Amino acid sequence: MADRLRILVTNDDGIHSPGIEALYRIANEITDDVWVVAPESEQSGASHSLTLTDPLRLRQLDEHWFAVRGTPTDCVLMGLKKVLPGPADLVLSGINRGQNLAEDVTYSGTVAAAMEGTALGVRSIAFSQAYGIESTGGPLRWETAETHGAELVRKLLKAHWGPGVLVNVNFPDCDPHEVAGIEVTRQGKRDEDMVVLDEREDARGNPYYWIGFSRRRSEAAQGTDLKAIYERRISVTPLHLDLTQAESLPTLKSVIDG
Ligand code: MN
Repeated sequence: MADRLRILVTNDDGIHSPGIEALYRIANEITDDVWVVAPESEQSGASHSLTLTDPLRLRQLDEHWFAVRGTPTDCVLMGLKKVLPGPADLVLSGINRGQNLAEDVTYSGTVAAAMEGTALGVRSIAFSQAYGIESTGGPLRWETAETHGAELVRKLLKAHWGPGVLVNVNFPDCDPHEVAGIEVTRQGKRDEDMVVLDEREDARGNPYYWIGFSRRRSEAAQGTDLKAIYERRISVTPLHLDLTQAESLPTLKSVIDG
């Protein structure tokens, strides 16, 4: 790793979101070689999708700021292969408007951008600022992520991560001084009835639907990302690109091989 880190910053809320400005400031506490390549418009829920049927347009907004009319994954590809003047040492994605906990990570464009960075061999961290777990929100506390972000990145960079590993960080919905520590967690699991389909009626009397999420808490086990965030700790979860569930290998082999 070079003395001077080069960081690519991206997100899924779009290049004009306050979260990416907060993450840019965090990155600038670590190095002055920071590049931003982020979607023109919000891509939350885009997961790891890649634009294959349309051309990608790159628009330069400032010396180190670029917008891509595409997904977070497109942005990481463009950033690492086209925009940056050389290899990156780190990809930082976020800070997402809202938590990415439990099965959120499978929908999340924020996490997917970090997956793409990891797939391309660059250490990558996804950041999300929790809010509105039990209410409709209130102000988003970007300052909580911003207060604790740079020091956390420095700590994480001291560890050796195995190949294919990315880190998913969530900041709790409380003021910076109320944060009750940092916990290394595993991915939790929400109760199964958390996704709700809200049916409404349009002006012509036809039904339409909104996908939404129940705001109550799930039963969360100790040591999970959910529990840490409920208890106001910063959650740090190592995730793996290899989704193989090793314990099922012999069971499946026994029925397939006979
Ligand atoms: Mn988002």
